[in-house]
Amino acid sequence: MPNRLKEFREQLNLTGVTAFLVTFQPHLRYLTGFSGSNGIGLVTPGALYLVTDGRYAVQVKKEVRGWKIFVTQESLFDELKRRDLLRPGWRVGFDGNSLMFQQYKQLRKTFPKVKFAPQADVIEGIAAVKDNDEIQKIRQAVAITDKVFGEILDIVKPGMRELDIAAEISYRHRRHGAETDAFEIIVASGERSALPHGQATSKKLKRGELVTLDLGCVYQGYHSDLTRTVGLGKLTAEAKKIYRIVGDAQQKAIDEARSGMKAAELDAVARDHIKQHGYEKFYRHSLGHGIGLQIHEAPRISVQSKAVLAAGNVVTIEPGIYIPGSGGVRIEDDIVITDGHCEVLTHSPKELVIL
Ligand code: ZN
Ligand code: ZN
Repeated sequence: MPNRLKEFREQLNLTGVTAFLVTFQPHLRYLTGFSGSNGIGLVTPGALYLVTDGRYAVQVKKEVRGWKIFVTQESLFDELKRRDLLRPGWRVGFDGNSLMFQQYKQLRKTFPKVKFAPQADVIEGIAAVKDNDEIQKIRQAVAITDKVFGEILDIVKPGMRELDIAAEISYRHRRHGAETDAFEIIVASGERSALPHGQATSKKLKRGELVTLDLGCVYQGYHSDLTRTVGLGKLTAEAKKIYRIVGDAQQKAIDEARSGMKAAELDAVARDHIKQHGYEKFYRHSLGHGIGLQIHEAPRISVQSKAVLAAGNVVTIEPGIYIPGSGGVRIEDDIVITDGHCEVLTHSPKELVIL
Protein backbone atom coordinates (compact mmCIF):
# COMPACT_ATOMS: atom_id res chain seq x y z
CA MET A 1 0.00 0.00 0.00
CA PRO A 2 2.76 2.58 0.65
CA ASN A 3 3.74 2.41 -3.03
CA ARG A 4 0.15 2.87 -4.15
CA LEU A 5 -0.18 5.93 -1.93
CA LYS A 6 3.09 7.37 -3.16
CA GLU A 7 1.94 7.03 -6.75
CA PHE A 8 -1.48 8.41 -5.87
CA ARG A 9 0.05 11.50 -4.25
CA GLU A 10 2.22 12.05 -7.32
CA GLN A 11 -0.87 11.91 -9.51
CA LEU A 12 -2.66 14.36 -7.21
CA ASN A 13 0.18 16.83 -7.55
CA LEU A 14 -0.24 16.66 -11.30
CA THR A 15 -3.96 17.33 -11.12
CA GLY A 16 -3.47 20.35 -8.85
CA VAL A 17 -5.81 19.39 -6.02
CA THR A 18 -4.98 20.01 -2.37
CA ALA A 19 -6.65 16.90 -1.06
CA PHE A 20 -8.68 13.94 -2.29
CA LEU A 21 -11.82 12.30 -0.91
CA VAL A 22 -11.91 8.57 -1.56
CA THR A 23 -15.61 7.74 -1.66
CA PHE A 24 -15.81 4.61 -3.82
CA GLN A 25 -15.46 1.35 -1.91
CA PRO A 26 -13.09 -0.51 -4.29
CA HIS A 27 -10.81 2.56 -4.38
CA LEU A 28 -10.83 2.81 -0.60
CA ARG A 29 -10.00 -0.86 -0.31
CA TYR A 30 -7.20 -0.49 -2.83
CA LEU A 31 -5.55 2.37 -0.93
CA THR A 32 -6.24 1.33 2.67
CA GLY A 33 -7.11 -2.37 2.79
CA PHE A 34 -10.48 -1.57 4.41
CA SER A 35 -13.14 -3.96 3.11
CA GLY A 36 -16.25 -2.54 4.86
CA SER A 37 -19.14 -1.17 2.82
CA ASN A 38 -19.30 2.30 4.37
CA GLY A 39 -16.24 4.50 4.63
CA ILE A 40 -14.51 7.59 3.28
CA GLY A 41 -10.81 8.23 2.99
CA LEU A 42 -9.28 11.68 2.96
CA VAL A 43 -5.78 12.20 1.64
CA THR A 44 -4.39 15.62 2.55
CA PRO A 45 -0.86 16.94 2.01
CA GLY A 46 0.18 15.87 5.48
CA ALA A 47 -2.22 13.19 6.63
CA LEU A 48 -4.41 10.20 5.85
CA TYR A 49 -7.85 9.89 7.45
CA LEU A 50 -10.43 7.15 7.25
CA VAL A 51 -13.97 7.62 8.57
CA THR A 52 -16.41 4.75 8.97
CA ASP A 53 -19.38 3.85 11.15
CA GLY A 54 -19.75 1.78 14.32
CA ARG A 55 -20.47 -1.49 12.50
CA TYR A 56 -16.88 -1.56 11.33
CA ALA A 57 -15.15 -0.35 14.52
CA VAL A 58 -13.34 -3.66 15.08
CA GLN A 59 -12.78 -4.58 11.44
CA VAL A 60 -11.28 -1.26 10.40
CA LYS A 61 -8.59 -1.45 13.08
CA LYS A 62 -7.67 -4.96 11.99
CA GLU A 63 -7.46 -4.14 8.30
CA VAL A 64 -5.96 -0.66 8.13
CA ARG A 65 -2.45 0.57 9.04
CA GLY A 66 -1.07 4.06 8.71
CA TRP A 67 -4.38 5.95 8.46
CA LYS A 68 -5.92 7.96 11.29
CA ILE A 69 -9.26 6.28 11.89
CA PHE A 70 -12.48 7.90 13.08
CA VAL A 71 -15.55 5.82 13.88
CA THR A 72 -18.76 7.83 13.94
CA GLN A 73 -22.47 7.47 14.57
CA GLU A 74 -23.17 10.44 12.32
CA SER A 75 -23.02 10.67 8.55
CA LEU A 76 -19.45 10.39 7.29
CA PHE A 77 -19.54 13.89 5.78
CA ASP A 78 -20.73 15.35 9.11
CA GLU A 79 -17.85 13.65 10.89
CA LEU A 80 -15.36 15.20 8.43
CA LYS A 81 -16.97 18.56 9.17
CA ARG A 82 -17.04 18.11 12.94
CA ARG A 83 -13.32 17.38 12.91
CA ASP A 84 -12.66 20.27 10.55
CA LEU A 85 -10.67 18.10 8.15
CA LEU A 86 -11.56 19.99 4.94
CA ARG A 87 -10.35 23.57 5.01
CA PRO A 88 -12.04 26.54 3.32
CA GLY A 89 -10.41 27.42 0.01
CA TRP A 90 -9.05 23.92 -0.59
CA ARG A 91 -9.50 22.30 -3.97
CA VAL A 92 -10.59 18.77 -3.14
CA GLY A 93 -10.65 15.99 -5.72
CA PHE A 94 -13.06 13.08 -5.78
CA ASP A 95 -13.81 10.32 -8.26
CA GLY A 96 -16.42 11.81 -10.59
CA ASN A 97 -17.21 8.45 -12.15
CA SER A 98 -18.58 6.93 -8.98
CA LEU A 99 -19.85 9.63 -6.60
CA MET A 100 -23.65 9.82 -6.74
CA PHE A 101 -25.16 13.17 -7.62
CA GLN A 102 -27.13 13.21 -4.37
CA GLN A 103 -23.95 12.68 -2.34
CA TYR A 104 -22.22 15.40 -4.30
CA LYS A 105 -25.00 17.84 -3.46
CA GLN A 106 -24.70 16.84 0.19
CA LEU A 107 -20.94 17.42 0.06
CA ARG A 108 -21.40 20.89 -1.40
CA LYS A 109 -23.93 21.72 1.28
CA THR A 110 -21.76 20.45 4.13
CA PHE A 111 -18.64 22.27 2.90
CA PRO A 112 -19.81 25.43 1.12
CA LYS A 113 -16.33 27.00 1.16
CA VAL A 114 -14.46 24.06 -0.32
CA LYS A 115 -14.01 23.71 -4.08
CA PHE A 116 -14.71 20.21 -5.28
CA ALA A 117 -13.03 19.02 -8.47
CA PRO A 118 -14.19 15.77 -10.06
CA GLN A 119 -11.34 13.60 -11.34
CA ALA A 120 -11.61 10.66 -13.69
CA ASP A 121 -9.66 7.42 -13.50
CA VAL A 122 -6.91 8.56 -11.11
CA ILE A 123 -7.08 5.53 -8.81
CA GLU A 124 -8.31 3.28 -11.66
CA GLY A 125 -5.20 4.13 -13.62
CA ILE A 126 -2.90 3.13 -10.78
CA ALA A 127 -4.92 0.02 -9.90
CA ALA A 128 -4.82 -1.21 -13.50
CA VAL A 129 -1.24 -2.36 -12.96
CA LYS A 130 -1.28 -5.17 -10.43
CA ASP A 131 1.55 -6.11 -8.11
CA ASN A 132 2.53 -9.73 -7.48
CA ASP A 133 0.42 -10.02 -4.37
CA GLU A 134 -2.69 -8.92 -6.29
CA ILE A 135 -1.93 -11.24 -9.20
CA GLN A 136 -1.59 -14.07 -6.68
CA LYS A 137 -5.08 -13.34 -5.35
CA ILE A 138 -6.58 -13.22 -8.85
CA ARG A 139 -4.75 -16.46 -9.63
CA GLN A 140 -6.42 -18.05 -6.62
CA ALA A 141 -9.87 -16.72 -7.60
CA VAL A 142 -9.32 -18.11 -11.10
CA ALA A 143 -8.17 -21.49 -9.74
CA ILE A 144 -11.38 -21.76 -7.72
CA THR A 145 -13.53 -20.93 -10.76
CA ASP A 146 -11.62 -23.39 -12.96
CA LYS A 147 -12.20 -26.11 -10.38
CA VAL A 148 -15.91 -25.29 -10.17
CA PHE A 149 -16.24 -25.36 -13.95
CA GLY A 150 -14.61 -28.81 -14.05
CA GLU A 151 -17.14 -30.10 -11.54
CA ILE A 152 -20.05 -28.47 -13.33
CA LEU A 153 -19.22 -30.35 -16.53
CA ASP A 154 -20.01 -33.55 -14.62
CA ILE A 155 -23.48 -32.42 -13.58
CA VAL A 156 -24.88 -30.40 -16.51
CA LYS A 157 -27.47 -32.47 -18.36
CA PRO A 158 -30.70 -32.07 -20.31
CA GLY A 159 -33.71 -31.46 -18.08
CA MET A 160 -31.86 -29.30 -15.53
CA ARG A 161 -32.97 -25.69 -15.18
CA GLU A 162 -30.47 -22.91 -15.86
CA LEU A 163 -31.08 -21.74 -12.29
CA ASP A 164 -30.15 -25.17 -10.91
CA ILE A 165 -26.77 -24.87 -12.60
CA ALA A 166 -26.25 -21.29 -11.38
CA ALA A 167 -27.02 -22.47 -7.83
CA GLU A 168 -24.51 -25.33 -8.13
CA ILE A 169 -21.85 -22.87 -9.30
CA SER A 170 -22.48 -20.41 -6.45
CA TYR A 171 -22.48 -23.21 -3.88
CA ARG A 172 -19.26 -24.70 -5.19
CA HIS A 173 -17.50 -21.33 -5.38
CA ARG A 174 -18.02 -20.88 -1.66
CA ARG A 175 -17.19 -24.49 -0.85
CA HIS A 176 -13.85 -24.09 -2.60
CA GLY A 177 -12.85 -20.96 -0.72
CA ALA A 178 -14.42 -17.98 -2.49
CA GLU A 179 -16.14 -15.20 -0.56
CA THR A 180 -18.94 -14.86 -3.07
CA ASP A 181 -19.74 -14.90 -6.77
CA ALA A 182 -18.14 -12.11 -8.80
CA PHE A 183 -21.50 -11.29 -10.47
CA GLU A 184 -24.86 -12.93 -11.16
CA ILE A 185 -23.84 -16.21 -12.77
CA ILE A 186 -24.85 -16.43 -16.42
CA VAL A 187 -26.34 -19.67 -17.69
CA ALA A 188 -27.89 -19.17 -21.12
CA SER A 189 -29.07 -22.20 -23.10
CA GLY A 190 -30.50 -22.74 -26.57
CA GLU A 191 -31.86 -19.55 -28.14
CA ARG A 192 -31.02 -17.74 -24.91
CA SER A 193 -27.31 -18.33 -25.54
CA ALA A 194 -27.64 -15.57 -28.14
CA LEU A 195 -28.07 -13.13 -25.23
CA PRO A 196 -24.56 -12.02 -24.27
CA HIS A 197 -25.72 -11.42 -20.69
CA GLY A 198 -28.51 -13.95 -20.31
CA GLN A 199 -28.94 -14.53 -16.61
CA ALA A 200 -30.11 -17.95 -15.50
CA THR A 201 -33.85 -18.56 -15.73
CA SER A 202 -36.15 -21.49 -15.01
CA LYS A 203 -35.73 -22.68 -18.60
CA LYS A 204 -34.74 -26.33 -18.84
CA LEU A 205 -31.73 -27.45 -20.86
CA LYS A 206 -32.50 -29.51 -23.96
CA ARG A 207 -30.51 -31.84 -26.16
CA GLY A 208 -28.93 -30.17 -29.20
CA GLU A 209 -28.52 -26.81 -27.46
CA LEU A 210 -25.51 -24.64 -26.83
CA VAL A 211 -25.13 -23.57 -23.20
CA THR A 212 -23.04 -20.53 -22.27
CA LEU A 213 -21.75 -20.44 -18.71
CA ASP A 214 -20.17 -17.20 -17.49
CA LEU A 215 -18.93 -17.53 -13.94
CA GLY A 216 -16.55 -15.83 -11.57
CA CYS A 217 -15.83 -15.54 -7.88
CA VAL A 218 -14.21 -13.21 -5.37
CA TYR A 219 -11.16 -14.22 -3.34
CA GLN A 220 -9.78 -11.71 -0.82
CA GLY A 221 -11.56 -8.98 -2.78
CA TYR A 222 -10.18 -10.01 -6.19
CA HIS A 223 -12.30 -11.29 -9.08
CA SER A 224 -12.15 -14.11 -11.59
CA ASP A 225 -14.19 -14.20 -14.80
CA LEU A 226 -14.54 -17.27 -17.02
CA THR A 227 -16.87 -18.12 -19.91
CA ARG A 228 -17.24 -21.39 -21.73
CA THR A 229 -19.93 -22.55 -24.13
CA VAL A 230 -20.68 -26.27 -24.13
CA GLY A 231 -22.90 -28.40 -26.34
CA LEU A 232 -25.61 -30.82 -25.23
CA GLY A 233 -25.69 -33.82 -27.55
CA LYS A 234 -25.65 -33.34 -31.30
CA LEU A 235 -25.07 -29.75 -32.46
CA THR A 236 -25.86 -28.15 -35.80
CA ALA A 237 -23.04 -27.59 -38.29
CA GLU A 238 -23.41 -23.83 -37.79
CA ALA A 239 -23.08 -24.11 -34.02
CA LYS A 240 -19.82 -25.99 -34.47
CA LYS A 241 -18.65 -23.50 -37.04
CA ILE A 242 -19.22 -20.42 -34.88
CA TYR A 243 -17.56 -22.22 -32.00
CA ARG A 244 -14.45 -22.69 -34.12
CA ILE A 245 -14.44 -19.07 -35.29
CA VAL A 246 -14.81 -17.67 -31.78
CA GLY A 247 -12.17 -20.07 -30.48
CA ASP A 248 -9.67 -19.05 -33.16
CA ALA A 249 -10.42 -15.34 -32.70
CA GLN A 250 -9.88 -15.68 -28.97
CA GLN A 251 -6.63 -17.59 -29.37
CA LYS A 252 -5.29 -15.08 -31.88
CA ALA A 253 -5.94 -12.24 -29.42
CA ILE A 254 -4.19 -14.16 -26.63
CA ASP A 255 -1.21 -14.83 -28.89
CA GLU A 256 -0.93 -11.15 -29.82
CA ALA A 257 -1.50 -9.56 -26.40
CA ARG A 258 1.61 -7.85 -25.04
CA SER A 259 2.73 -4.76 -23.17
CA GLY A 260 3.00 -1.59 -25.23
CA MET A 261 0.15 -2.62 -27.51
CA LYS A 262 -2.89 -0.38 -27.88
CA ALA A 263 -5.98 -2.00 -26.37
CA ALA A 264 -7.97 -1.02 -29.47
CA GLU A 265 -5.41 -2.85 -31.61
CA LEU A 266 -5.86 -6.01 -29.56
CA ASP A 267 -9.63 -5.67 -29.89
CA ALA A 268 -9.16 -5.55 -33.65
CA VAL A 269 -7.22 -8.83 -33.73
CA ALA A 270 -10.27 -10.85 -32.65
CA ARG A 271 -12.79 -8.61 -34.41
CA ASP A 272 -11.02 -8.87 -37.76
CA HIS A 273 -10.95 -12.65 -37.53
CA ILE A 274 -14.70 -12.77 -36.91
CA LYS A 275 -15.21 -10.27 -39.72
CA GLN A 276 -13.21 -12.39 -42.17
CA HIS A 277 -15.74 -15.15 -41.58
CA GLY A 278 -18.70 -12.83 -42.12
CA TYR A 279 -20.01 -12.79 -38.55
CA GLU A 280 -19.04 -9.27 -37.45
CA LYS A 281 -22.63 -8.12 -37.12
CA PHE A 282 -23.21 -10.87 -34.56
CA TYR A 283 -20.36 -9.66 -32.33
CA ARG A 284 -21.35 -6.42 -30.70
CA HIS A 285 -19.43 -6.03 -27.50
CA SER A 286 -15.87 -5.24 -26.54
CA LEU A 287 -13.12 -7.85 -26.42
CA GLY A 288 -12.41 -7.57 -22.72
CA HIS A 289 -11.92 -5.61 -19.54
CA GLY A 290 -9.57 -5.37 -16.60
CA ILE A 291 -10.33 -7.40 -13.46
CA GLY A 292 -9.15 -6.71 -9.93
CA LEU A 293 -11.01 -5.39 -6.92
CA GLN A 294 -13.79 -4.70 -9.42
CA ILE A 295 -15.19 -7.11 -11.97
CA HIS A 296 -15.01 -4.47 -14.70
CA GLU A 297 -12.16 -2.01 -14.49
CA ALA A 298 -9.36 -0.45 -16.49
CA PRO A 299 -8.02 -1.15 -19.01
CA ARG A 300 -11.02 -1.65 -21.30
CA ILE A 301 -10.24 -3.54 -24.47
CA SER A 302 -12.62 -2.12 -27.03
CA VAL A 303 -12.78 -0.28 -30.34
CA GLN A 304 -12.97 3.09 -28.52
CA SER A 305 -10.38 2.35 -25.83
CA LYS A 306 -7.48 4.79 -25.53
CA ALA A 307 -5.57 2.47 -23.20
CA VAL A 308 -2.12 1.08 -23.91
CA LEU A 309 -1.50 -2.32 -22.36
CA ALA A 310 1.13 -2.46 -19.63
CA ALA A 311 2.88 -5.30 -17.84
CA GLY A 312 0.80 -6.12 -14.78
CA ASN A 313 -2.59 -5.49 -16.39
CA VAL A 314 -4.96 -8.39 -15.77
CA VAL A 315 -7.65 -8.51 -18.43
CA THR A 316 -10.26 -10.79 -19.93
CA ILE A 317 -10.28 -11.88 -23.57
CA GLU A 318 -13.87 -12.73 -24.47
CA PRO A 319 -15.07 -12.52 -28.05
CA GLY A 320 -18.43 -14.02 -28.97
CA ILE A 321 -20.88 -14.62 -31.80
CA TYR A 322 -24.60 -14.39 -31.03
CA ILE A 323 -27.19 -15.31 -33.64
CA PRO A 324 -30.67 -14.15 -32.62
CA GLY A 325 -33.25 -16.93 -32.61
CA SER A 326 -30.54 -19.56 -32.88
CA GLY A 327 -27.77 -19.42 -30.29
CA GLY A 328 -24.40 -18.06 -29.38
CA VAL A 329 -20.86 -18.83 -28.31
CA ARG A 330 -18.50 -16.90 -26.05
CA ILE A 331 -15.11 -18.00 -24.80
CA GLU A 332 -13.44 -15.97 -22.05
CA ASP A 333 -10.06 -16.29 -20.36
CA ASP A 334 -8.22 -14.11 -17.87
CA ILE A 335 -4.67 -13.13 -18.76
CA VAL A 336 -1.80 -11.16 -17.23
CA ILE A 337 0.03 -8.85 -19.61
CA THR A 338 3.79 -9.29 -19.20
CA ASP A 339 6.81 -7.63 -20.75
CA GLY A 340 7.18 -10.43 -23.23
CA HIS A 341 3.66 -11.53 -24.02
CA CYS A 342 0.99 -12.67 -21.65
CA GLU A 343 0.26 -15.43 -19.18
CA VAL A 344 -3.10 -17.18 -19.34
CA LEU A 345 -4.48 -17.68 -15.82
CA THR A 346 -7.60 -19.70 -16.69
CA HIS A 347 -7.00 -23.35 -17.53
CA SER A 348 -10.46 -24.72 -18.29
CA PRO A 349 -10.54 -26.68 -21.56
CA LYS A 350 -11.36 -24.74 -24.72
CA GLU A 351 -12.01 -27.45 -27.26
CA LEU A 352 -15.76 -27.87 -27.76
CA VAL A 353 -17.09 -29.99 -24.90
CA ILE A 354 -20.15 -32.06 -25.79
CA LEU A 355 -22.07 -33.33 -22.79
ZN1 ZN B 1 -17.49 -13.21 -17.85
ZN1 ZN C 1 -15.85 -10.57 -18.56
